[in-house]
Order: sequence, then structure tokens, then C-alpha cells
Amino acid sequence: MSPVYTLGIDIGSAASKCLILRDGEQIRALSKVDFGAGTSGPDRAVEEVLTAASLRWEDLSFVLATGYGRKSVSLADEEMSELSCHCRGAHFLFPRARTLIDIGGQDVKVLQMNESGGLENFVMNDKCAAGTGRFLDVMAHILELKTDDLADFASRSTEEVVISSTCTVFAESEVISQLAKGSKRCDIVRGICVAIASKVAGLARRIPVREDVVMSGGVAKNKAVTDALSRALEHPIYSHEYCQHVGALGAALFAWQKWKKRIS
Ligand code: ADP
Repeated sequence: MSPVYTLGIDIGSAASKCLILRDGEQIRALSKVDFGAGTSGPDRAVEEVLTAASLRWEDLSFVLATGYGRKSVSLADEEMSELSCHCRGAHFLFPRARTLIDIGGQDVKVLQMNESGGLENFVMNDKCAAGTGRFLDVMAHILELKTDDLADFASRSTEEVVISSTCTVFAESEVISQLAKGSKRCDIVRGICVAIASKVAGLARRIPVREDVVMSGGVAKNKAVTDALSRALEHPIYSHEYCQHVGALGAALFAWQKWKKRIS
């Protein structure tokens, strides 16, 4: 039988992520474009993933969209909430995951999962950027750094500069005043990563944090944040090289399940 390809599209606020799965179990290709809902990001991410997989749109058996901008993907066969997709994707990568912390561009979610990867409960941040990727992006900009380089910088720190506010506007003034005082950028970056971790830990403590604890979303790529969060929660935290594609992976897995149902 010829292989079956399903596509998961995760349209976030900061980035559009796509993942193609072969026969519901093998990751064939991924793409990421750093533009999210309401931009050309989703179309470009689809184009890129098809090129990476050497496939055409017609070769896809089922397409499922998820994420903040999922309703804008008119070509998708179906759409589904990112909460379910994130749990499903995390379960595929880490079958023992029971708590999932997702930090994206504009929101933070802490999800409690059952042993089959189903969603049991969750908490989310309010509409403020504190504790999100946006917070890190703003701070990186003031420090004239790339968000991707923050963890590296933090690792060179010898003395943490305490950033006491997690409000993006107040933290921005704190960082500017630290720079004016002559504090080292790496020490400030360390303080920023610790500040975001303590904000997220406060949210996570509102539900029981059970092991294994897994992180998804773009911010999971920042080791300074995952390490600080692990210390704050007193649990090891696992994250995967595909952490930013966990939602797209879950969507592609659901797409496979829906395709099987359709043909049965
Ligand atoms: P969304 O789903 O809301 O679009 P993502 O889960 O894609 O969000 O995460 C986007 C955020 O991830 C960005 O705002 C940025 O702060 C962070 N990010 C992306 N890549 C990296 C990286 N290499 N290192 C650290 N942080 C990153």
C-alpha cells in the first residue's frame, strides 16, 4: 500500500509551524516561519513543508489546523483546539508526560494530562505578555540580542541581576536602568530568564504538577528558562528538539486518526 501523509498546521501568534507525518508514525518533514496568524506565514510554512517532504498538496490525505489562527486555514479538512493537539503531540514524544508547560509567543498554558495523552485540566495566563515569548523578544530587542541567543548569553553570567517585575513594561525600564548602571548584559539576561521562570512556576502551581513534566513551544528552546523553571518547580523538565512543533505534531496525529475513520 502506498504511504499516507497527513499534515498538521499550527498557526500561533508568533510563528506558523507545519509537520507532515507518514502513516501516522514517522515524521517526514517540518517547517517554521516566524510570522503567525494574519500574515503570509501560514501559506509560506505549508509551501516550505511540502518542498521539504518532496510532496504536493494533492498527496496529503488529511490536513488539520490548530493554534490561535486555525480558523483562517480555509484549505484544512478540520480544525481543533491547540490544547488537545499539544497534549497529543507531547504524549507521542514523551509517553510518560503528565504535565505539559507550553510557552508560546503570547500565552502560557500548563496542561495536566492522563496516561493516554488526553487533557484533564489546564490553566492559562491572562491577556498580559508577562511570562511569554513576547516578554523575551522585547527584552532581547532592548539588549540588542536575538531571542535565540539569550540562553547562551545567560550561561556566561557570573552574577544574576534580579529583575523584580514580570510586567513587560516595568521590566523594560528595569533592564534599561541596569544597562545605564553598567551591569553586564549576560547577568541581566540571566535575571530575565529567572523572572519569566518564576512567573510561569506561579501559574503552574495552581494545578498539581505531576511528573513527567514536559515543555513545548518556542521558549522551550531556551535552556536558561527551562533550567530556572526546573529549579523553581523542583522537578526535572524534558523538552524535545521539536518542542516548537508539538502542536503541529498533535494535529498531524489527529489528522491520521480522522483519515482512518473516514476510510473505515
Ligand atoms: P506561538 O505558537 O504563539 O506562535 P511559539 O510556540 O511558536 O509561539 O513560540 C514563539 C516564541 O518562541 C517566540 O516569541 C520566541 O520568544 C521563542 N523562541 C523561538 N525560537 C527560539 C529559540 N531558538 N530560542 C529561544 N526562544 C525561541
